[in-house]
Amino acid sequence: MGRKLNTDIGMTVLTGANWQCVACGDRFGRCQVDHVRPVHAGGLDIPVNLVCLCYECNQVKSCFWPGHGYHQTRLAYDDVFRAHLILDAEITWLREHHSEAEIHEHIWRWYGMPDGASWF
Ligand SMILES: [Zn+2]
Repeated sequence: MGRKLNTDIGMTVLTGANWQCVACGDRFGRCQVDHVRPVHAGGLDIPVNLVCLCYECNQVKSCFWPGHGYHQTRLAYDDVFRAHLILDAEITWLREHHSEAEIHEHIWRWYGMPDGASWF
């Protein structure tokens, strides 16, 4: 959200996910590239920080990040629980495709999430 991605990186993310939403599994929605850690929270345009979400899930996740809330979003605060669920699904997907060290460096870096911690 919020910044135009390099097209090659975006296509790599979408094809790598087989055009399937990592949160709800939908294959027929409009696939979009989401920054797991939003740009406003220091997230980078690198594969370990990018996943495929359908349009609907991306609307809910938006720029949500724990401790930052819904910056730059159109959504009501009521959806924060759903945003957590989508973020949790993104992390699960990342763990299947990237090393823990890489995830720690680029996702948890400034927040010190303990090993195996849940978002809840
Ligand atoms: Zn979805």
